[in-house]
Amino acid sequence: TFRALRVEEVAPGKFDQRIESQEIDALPAHELLIEVEYSSLNYKDALSAFGQPGVTREYPHTPGIDAAGRVLEDASGTFQPGQQVLVTGYDLGMNTAGGLAERIRVPASWAVACPESLGARDAMALGTAGLTAGLCVQKLLAAGATPEGGTAVVTGATGGVGSIAVALLAKLGFRVAAVTGKLESAEFLTALGAEKIIDRDMLAEYSPRALVKPQWQWGVDSVGGETLFNLIKATGYGGAVAACGLAGGAQFNASVYPFILRGVSLLGIDSVEQPLSAKAAVWEKLAGEWNIGEKLARITEELSLAQAPEFLARLHRGHGIGRYIVNLNK
Ligand code: NAP
Repeated sequence: TFRALRVEEVAPGKFDQRIESQEIDALPAHELLIEVEYSSLNYKDALSAFGQPGVTREYPHTPGIDAAGRVLEDASGTFQPGQQVLVTGYDLGMNTAGGLAERIRVPASWAVACPESLGARDAMALGTAGLTAGLCVQKLLAAGATPEGGTAVVTGATGGVGSIAVALLAKLGFRVAAVTGKLESAEFLTALGAEKIIDRDMLAEYSPRALVKPQWQWGVDSVGGETLFNLIKATGYGGAVAACGLAGGAQFNASVYPFILRGVSLLGIDSVEQPLSAKAAVWEKLAGEWNIGEKLARITEELSLAQAPEFLARLHRGHGIGRYIVNLNK
């Protein structure tokens, strides 16, 4: 048996999380059995843990869209027993039992070898959030982003994706403006490399103006909603914004003006269904030239599985700061 965080619908619309013992046979019949060493908490895990139907359809369920650990068995022959691997996205933790458990069983085609210079712990400190921040930066660079071109702005800056994006853009030499609802965390953000802190309220409301004075040239947006289009309206000529999240909302009012008068690009980012080779390429970058070094430790808090429900509730309320990793041996 192994321990897993199980989410159950105890009354209509009311979801409860607790740690239970499970049989290996309860896991789906895939090729690759992994002893999970570390997992992490993402906003999506909070949605799954609190019953968001767009994320998880059937309960009881084990959330956890991220996992890293050692291979116990691989019927596909892709990996050797004992090899360290990591899995992010695809269906893990959505409708396939996820990483907030001591064991997962997944298709071998969901796993990449864990970069040696990271190891399971740092790989999960990055997790889906790091992969997503990396994909945003990769797409911005491909769209022509350079530090000389102008400031990069990051929304949801104290969150998982946001804090890694701030650190990564600063490492690459960008001047970074961080948009946050937690002004009391300004020091946390400046330590990651943000030069300017902007109150989230400045960008939260719909405004009828078609364009505003440019304030930045590049953007990483994990908030969505009206914030996203306010970001685009304040983006300079030829700039680009990578949209990856909806922590503040899914809908927004828009016009074509920033696109046709300033040539601004809106870049869509999905980390979940990326081909495995594309994920592996970003992991190699994050482990190598994009390694944010000791800043990763600064944003990471380690939890036991027993602490996961409390911190999932925090993320659900938008109160998380940085990254939460779960040590399954704790
Ligand atoms: P997180 O750690 O919970 O961070 C979200 C941050 O957004 C919060 O810390 C907060 O930062 C801000 N925020 C929260 N509620 C808000 C609200 N009502 N209005 C404005 N800002 C709000 O979450 P995460 O794991 O980094 O994920 C961030 C978003 O990206 C989520 O929507 C997630 O679903 C999405 N995501 C998408 C992909 C993809 O593949 N496209 C991958 C990963 C994550 P401040 O307090 O600093 O403002």
